[in-house]
Amino acid sequence: MAGWGNFRNCFGTVFYPETAQDVQKIVREPGACIAFGNGRSYGDSALGERIVYTRSLPPVFNFDAETGVLRCGAGVLFADILAKVIPLRWMLPVLPGTRYITVGGAIAANVHGKNQRTPNLLSHYLLDFQLVTETGDVQRCSRTQHPAVFWNTIGGMGRTGIITEARLQLVPLPSEWLEQRTELAADLAEVLTTLANNSTAEFAVAWLHPTRRTGRVFFAQFTTDASPTRPRTTRPLNIPFFAPNALLNRHTMRWYHHWYAWKNRPGVRRVPLEQYFFPLDGLLNWNRLYGRRGFVQYQACFPRAQALAGGAVLLDTLDKHGLMPFLVVLKQHHAPEPELVHGFVQDGFSLAIDLKPPRNWPQIIQDLDAVTAQFGGKIYAVKDASSSPGVIGLRHERLLGTKFASMQTGRYKR
Ligand SMILES: Cc1cc2nc3c(=O)[nH]c(=O)nc-3n(C[C@H](O)[C@H](O)[C@H](O)COP(=O)(O)OP(=O)(O)OC[C@H]3O[C@@H](n4cnc5c(N)ncnc54)[C@H](O)[C@@H]3O)c2cc1C
Repeated sequence: MAGWGNFRNCFGTVFYPETAQDVQKIVREPGACIAFGNGRSYGDSALGERIVYTRSLPPVFNFDAETGVLRCGAGVLFADILAKVIPLRWMLPVLPGTRYITVGGAIAANVHGKNQRTPNLLSHYLLDFQLVTETGDVQRCSRTQHPAVFWNTIGGMGRTGIITEARLQLVPLPSEWLEQRTELAADLAEVLTTLANNSTAEFAVAWLHPTRRTGRVFFAQFTTDASPTRPRTTRPLNIPFFAPNALLNRHTMRWYHHWYAWKNRPGVRRVPLEQYFFPLDGLLNWNRLYGRRGFVQYQACFPRAQALAGGAVLLDTLDKHGLMPFLVVLKQHHAPEPELVHGFVQDGFSLAIDLKPPRNWPQIIQDLDAVTAQFGGKIYAVKDASSSPGVIGLRHERLLGTKFASMQTGRYKR
């Protein structure tokens, strides 16, 4: 088994529970275990010696089209939920960059989307969930029932137990089309001010040219005209095997970045929902393009006042090590709910940087973590493959117990 980055892998025993009772039995057996959703976390947070594959759990799909409340199994994919609720004019309130994640994995990470005017963390829309705890008991957790377990599980990376089902509040879907406005930004500072100064767009995300450091900011809102046509669904292409390690290198990527900047010229255009929210889902298994040695994503969120300096020094640190990022994506975040225990999101900006780790990666990651700490940043735990515990947005001291442990947990103990 491997994380999405294929940078970490393991030979664990995999269990395929078909009911919550099966999960209870697995948990009660000796030894630690960890839930595995759809493996879209980049690092080793879902890997371990005993892996509980949650997609085999029953889907229990129950949607109330009057209230927008969805009850479903933890192994159900966002893609399957969207396929069912979009025709009913509802959608998930928070959409990360891929729809191939499970509900359980989304809660364990407390995923964020591109929302600017509405709360951007899944926790805000989570009503309750059912959890198999370390004693093997089933607990329903919400803001009022076992609230401490509820808040510790959200963003807790599977370390409090295995979620078997959940209830989420969905939101009405105005249209399947978005009006996307692309703006140019001369540099990192302008990317951040462009994001911060726009208070009207519903959604926003930015891309930075990794070498030129010029940017594109993509704002979007749902179209309001009663557009009758549904976007055409296109079959995603599949990358069937790992590409040679050398395929993505600084030369091929330089061409790609120039092409991407040229393709995304400033202006307004209408795009299907899927294209705006899930641009990478058009290519299944795109992670194989990085080759067998894999890649990492370093995603840090800095407080507003420190984001420019923190982001610039992070990129300079990579330059200093002669490393060219393959992708740099930025988002603006607002202050999260105060009850949240874990998480990397704070009022500020996040940078996500895709990289092919070279041989001296341990030294580089130490330097990157030092910059993140210096500028008050935190790392997103699902992207972590090698960071030091101090900078991860996960409060280990609040996750007592040893029943649920991953390779990530093991790394922190060393
Ligand atoms: C292309 C791409 C784009 C992405 N964009 C975003 C983004 O914009 N925003 C964002 O927030 N994230 C983003 N992500 C990260 C992704 O949303 C998270 O990693 C998510 O947790 C993956 O869900 P999964 O079902 O694959 O979980 P896995 O990767 O299998 O597991 C992730 C964590 O959740 C735990 N877990 C899984 N299921 C359960 C369960 N039933 N009970 C308890 N714990 C469980 C695992 O133990 C592990 O710690 C992106 C990932 C990719 C590949």
